[in-house]
This record gives sequence, structure tokens and C-alpha cells, in this order.
Amino acid sequence: METFADGFGRRFRYLRISLTEVCNFRCVYCLPNGYQKVAGPALMTPLEIERLGRVFSHRGVTKFRLTGGEPTVRRDLGEIIGRLSALPGVNKVAMTTNGWNLARHIDEWAAAGLTNLNVSVDSLDPEVFHRITGHNRLNSVLEGVERALELALPNVKLNAVLQRDAISEGFAPFADYVRTRPVAVRFIELMRTGDNVALFEDQHVPGDHLRQWLTERGWSPCSRGADDGPAIEFSHPDHVGRLGLIAPYSPGFCDSCNRLRVTAAGKLRLCLFGDDGVDLRHLLGSDDAAPLEALIESALRIKPRGHRLAEGRTGNTRNLSQVGG
Ligand code: SAM
Ligand code: SF4
Repeated sequence: METFADGFGRRFRYLRISLTEVCNFRCVYCLPNGYQKVAGPALMTPLEIERLGRVFSHRGVTKFRLTGGEPTVRRDLGEIIGRLSALPGVNKVAMTTNGWNLARHIDEWAAAGLTNLNVSVDSLDPEVFHRITGHNRLNSVLEGVERALELALPNVKLNAVLQRDAISEGFAPFADYVRTRPVAVRFIELMRTGDNVALFEDQHVPGDHLRQWLTERGWSPCSRGADDGPAIEFSHPDHVGRLGLIAPYSPGFCDSCNRLRVTAAGKLRLCLFGDDGVDLRHLLGSDDAAPLEALIESALRIKPRGHRLAEGRTGNTRNLSQVGG
């Protein structure tokens, strides 16, 4: 069976599935006032997620990422990980989390089949972390990361959103962190969304700032794997781990786009910054995969070439918790 592809010849081996829009953190660039409950369609059940995953894995997807909102607020997370990791051809089940309950649950999730873990840690300074996320939990989040390393999870990464205030001390604390730990810390350039325009104007730091810092200190770019995300990672002979950059405003960022997204209510989003999405939910109630496959195929023909963030166009995306960043 052929891998899903779009009209620009890009093939999709990687699907991000949002499990919920709910989040318990209040990150300044995402949900500064916390999650506000809105009436909406029910979340996909574990069985519906498995059916979705089955169609995508049948068409060449080998890696799923669970995200949100905060995916770990779902009590059935272990079951979802287990169902996806058991699908034929799937070799990676990844999750992006703020890490609030990682230390308590990582053993269970690893046993269910979680292979890749990305934990969002915007600063290694507890006060700055508290200011950005609204929670004084840096130490407990980092304990969870240590436990994931003890369990030898194949791939543990930290995500840090590049913000002027968060990097006032520079990148040295993160470089020290990865001196002895096999962890990649990837800095994500702050993206402008519908809700964060003022913060963006104040806090956005171009990715080149980090690139220059790394180059001046002897870090060199590493090669990328086929199902890797858009990060460029850098290594250094004195450090076990890596530092990396995700720079959505760089020219050509979308050319190698290998990801699709499905929202927590079962809508296929063709671009993080696109509009609305194509509803798949009505086809997830049965085991008949053919109509779902056909719908996804036709939707992919209209996947846009790239986002239009540089023109200030954010599509319908008010914040990334809505679509699964
Ligand atoms: N709640 C989980 C977490 O924070 O890891 C998963 C969802 S969160 C939307 C996914 C990632 O998107 C996080 O690493 C977060 O820092 C990042 N993010 C959220 N809003 C962003 C923005 N406006 N620009 C860049 N990254 C953003
Ligand atoms: Fe929650 Fe993640 Fe958004 Fe922070 S970035 S508010 S943890 S969804």
C-alpha cells in the first residue's frame, strides 16, 4: 500500500493525535488565563483512536505522537498508548507533555509501549519556569525526566520555547544539562497565534540567535532521520546530549513537512496554521477502513504548500492547545 502523500509529493509517515484541548498549565504564550471550558464534540475514544491509527499505519505511518492540550490529563492514556503501539508497522509512539504527572506515571506508560517522550521545559530556573507556566513544579517535572532516563526510554527530549525573558541567562544552563544526559533540548521559535500577538511582539527571538550561539561554541549540526520532526539538532564533543532548533519562520521550513494532525474531536488538520479541518469522526464508528482512507486521500490533495505565518496569517489557530502543537 502506498504511503499517504499530498499534491506536492510530500509523504506522511508521522501523525500527531491530540487527545484533549484541556490543560492544567497556563503557559504565557498558549493559555495565559488557563483552559476555558467550551461546549464541543466529545473526545475520540481509545477504540476510535485505534481505528484512526490502523488506517494511517496501513498507509505507511510508523510514528504517532500524542499531544494536546495536555495528553496526560486523560485517564485512559495508557490504554491509548497500548492500542497504538500494538498496530502493525508502528515503531514509535511518542508523547509531548508538560510533565506535571510524569514521575508518577512514566513506568506505566513505558510498559504500555511509549518510546519517545518530549517534555516541555522552557527554563531550568524554577522561578522563571513558574512565571511562564503558572506552576511551581520544575523539580517534579525534572524528576519525571530522570525516571524516563532510568527506564532507558529510547528517546527523551525537552522542548523549550524561545522567549526573550527565558533566555536572559543565555543557553548555558541547558548546555550544562545535556553535558552528561542523553537528552536533546530543542528550542522552538515562539509562534504567533491568534491569541498571543502582544506577547509575540515582545518576546519573539529569531532562531538565528541560538544558531549563532551554538556555532560560536563549537556545536555542529547532525543529520536527520526520515520520520524526524523539523528540528535541526547540534552536537558537541564534550556533551552527551544535543541542543536543537525548531525555526518555523525559516524559509523552506514547510518544504519537508512530514506531519499531519488529528484534533481531539477527530478532525484532520492539514497544517498547524490552516483553517478548521476535515471531519473524520463520522467514519470512526465502524471497522470499515475504506471510506476513511478515501476521505483522507482526497483531503491530502488540498494540503497547502506552507503556512503563512510570515504574513501574520495564523489560520483559525488561536493557540496551540487547540490543535496539538
Ligand atoms: N501540553 C503539552 C506540552 O506543553 O508539552 C503538549 C501540547 S503543547 C501545545 C506542545 C508544544 O507546543 C509545547 O512544547 C509548547 O511549549 C509548544 N507551544 C505552545 N504554544 C506555542 C507557541 N505559540 N509557539 C511555539 N511553541 C508553542
Ligand atoms: Fe498547556 Fe502545553 Fe499550552 Fe503550556 S503549552 S498551556 S502545557 S497545552
